Parts: sequence; structure tokens; C-alpha cells
Amino acid sequence: MTENGMILLSSEDTFDFSCTTHIPCFNECCRDLNQFLTPYDILRLKNRLNISSALFLERYTRQHTGPESGLPVVTFKTGPDLKCPFVTSEGCSVYEDRPSSCRMYPLMRMISRSRETGRITEHFVLLKEEHCLGFGQDRTWTATAWIKDQGLGPYNEMNDRLMEIIALKNQKHPGPLDIKSRHFFHISLYDLDAFRTQVFEKGILTDFHADPEISEAAKTDDTALLKLGVEWIKQTIFKG
Ligand code: SF4
Ligand code: SF4
Repeated sequence: MTENGMILLSSEDTFDFSCTTHIPCFNECCRDLNQFLTPYDILRLKNRLNISSALFLERYTRQHTGPESGLPVVTFKTGPDLKCPFVTSEGCSVYEDRPSSCRMYPLMRMISRSRETGRITEHFVLLKEEHCLGFGQDRTWTATAWIKDQGLGPYNEMNDRLMEIIALKNQKHPGPLDIKSRHFFHISLYDLDAFRTQVFEKGILTDFHADPEISEAAKTDDTALLKLGVEWIKQTIFKG
């Protein structure tokens, strides 16, 4: 274990953890929040609430641009108490569509991608924070089992696509993005409903050779639309 309570784990190392509504620290991890939201987190939450991506971003998030990368940084908007806008006394009100970091806790997942094969290797860190009383409880997990139990498969898949374009950006365009690229990055990944209008009503992708199947699905399916946005950014802005 490191000094700050972080333990490196392989995908098959075990840890004992259980989080239930009866635990004295219930909801503690949904306070004092500084939580980053990924494009797929936003997709799931805005659909859960049945509102547009623009309204979701305005109502529930804070957005700024990373000063060194020029990339969007989106976090939950919290009040003075730093509580998540979706926490209630009964727990998470958007549980089935909660963001990936809520699902992953108490683990952190990092990936490395082989340049030759594109194969992804996963690394895990167990975060043992003092306020969390879920450790040492009566359930034993591996990271693999935790990911399955928490429904993280589609989140990890989409977040890995995002990491791929961030790595490409760092490699090909290390400084801050210009205003136009920033706008395209934001709209095609974070403001999906506006992106759909740009694609299917304004013809923004005219010179881009999209996978016809994904393109067709993107008319009605937000996950396909996000995949389309990632490919477009990769090929047009970062020339991947
Ligand atoms: S989304 Fe749900 S689980 Fe995540 S911090 Fe908010 S209330 Fe907690
Ligand atoms: S602090 Fe830990 S045990 Fe307590 S509710 Fe949050 S995740 Fe569960």
C-alpha cells in the first residue's frame, strides 16, 4: 500500500468490499464532490432525465477548458455543500445511469494501449479512503468481477475511445487546441443533440467517410452518434 491508501491491483487480485444502504457512511462518497464526467456519462444521464444534452450541461454541470490541453473539462455542478445534484436521502436518484467513476469506486482503472497492436492492458488501483467503511466487509471481489457487477462494460468501451483521441491529441497536437477545434471537440462528444443537428440537418460531415452502418444508426442512437463523433474528431482534427 502507498502512503495515501492506494493499492495496485491486477485484474484478478482480490479485495473485500461491500456498500449497502445500511452502512453508516451511506451517501458519504456523493458529497465533497469534484467529479469529472465523460461524454458517455453525459449521454446516459441526459437520456435518463429525458432532456437535451445542452440542457443537461447547463443545468447540472460546470464546464471549463483545460488551460494546457484546450480540451473540455466537465464536472457536476454542486451547491455550497459540494453534494452531487442527484444524491437523495434514499441514495442515488439516477443509479441505473450513474457515471463511470461512481460505478468504479473504490477502484480506479487505467489503461495502456500497444502502439503496434492497439491492444489495451488494464491496471487498477484500490482507493482506501478513511470515510469509506465498505472495506473488509463480507464480499470478495476481483476487478474483473467488480466491473461486471457494476455494469461498466459499455462505459469502459466508450471511455477507452475517448482516451484514444486524447492520446492522439497529445501526440499530434501537444499544445492547446484552437477555438474552432475546441468547438468541434465539445459539440461532437459532449453536446450530442446539437451534433446530430449539425450532422443530419447541416451536413457538417460531408467530406468525412463515415462507416455507413454507424452513420445510419446515429440518426436515432446516441451511442452510435458518439462513436461517429469520436471517429470524426480522430480523422479530421487529429488525423488519426
Ligand atoms: S451520480 Fe449518484 S452515485 Fe454518483 S455521486 Fe451522484 S448521487 Fe452519488
Ligand atoms: S463511502 Fe464507501 S461504503 Fe460508504 S456509501 Fe460510499 S462507497 Fe459505499
